[in-house]
Amino acid sequence: MRDGLLNLGSVTTIAEGDGFIFNSPVEFFQFHYGEPGDLEVVFSAALATDEAIAAFENGNKDLARQKWKSVDGDKLIHLWNLGITNSKLRGKKWADLEKSDFDGPIAKQVSESLAKKVYLRDDCICRYCDMPVFTRFKGSRIHQLIQAFPELTPGLRLVNGSLKGSGKNGAIKNVDYAKFLWSMAAPDHIVPRSHGGLTDMENLVTSCSGCNYSKGDLTLAQLGVQWPKPLL
Ligand SMILES: [Zn+2]
Repeated sequence: MRDGLLNLGSVTTIAEGDGFIFNSPVEFFQFHYGEPGDLEVVFSAALATDEAIAAFENGNKDLARQKWKSVDGDKLIHLWNLGITNSKLRGKKWADLEKSDFDGPIAKQVSESLAKKVYLRDDCICRYCDMPVFTRFKGSRIHQLIQAFPELTPGLRLVNGSLKGSGKNGAIKNVDYAKFLWSMAAPDHIVPRSHGGLTDMENLVTSCSGCNYSKGDLTLAQLGVQWPKPLL
């Protein structure tokens, strides 16, 4: 656990001219569209998940269960849905920012194998907000919790070591996914594809779903977010 995670419970902004500087895309989102306490919910969930995994790996299953149970899926899914349905999100300011002059070919999507390489290089830490992130891939540490306490995430199961939903064709129902929706790893294009960003190791960083979603098609300059955190 990096110290940075604990410092992100409150949004700190530094006025610079007309703009603001944010530590992460999630902070940008919170500042413009969030409700009080949103970030606290996200980061305390990530912290509790991380503590649950550590407790489990140390053999303290009671503590692991307690911590994992404390991750409030309902609150998290509320936040996610808030972001999607909140009309303010697609308000004028955001729409204005989203426009890109780039008209060249758009880089391809990130393949699963490239995403894995990026996560491995970044040690499964969000390069924007320092949150520990987890993957659906085989061997992800969060799988231990799904396996040990199936009653806490009844809509999830492991098939040959990979996370699947119990819905049709392995679909994962949002409400069951919410326990780690916000701390799920996503490969993020630093320069968005819509702005000519390439799909390569140099332009990709590990991000949590929250940062990835909050960033959208915006550039870091538009968001007022400085460069991703350097690798340790
Ligand atoms: Zn993040």
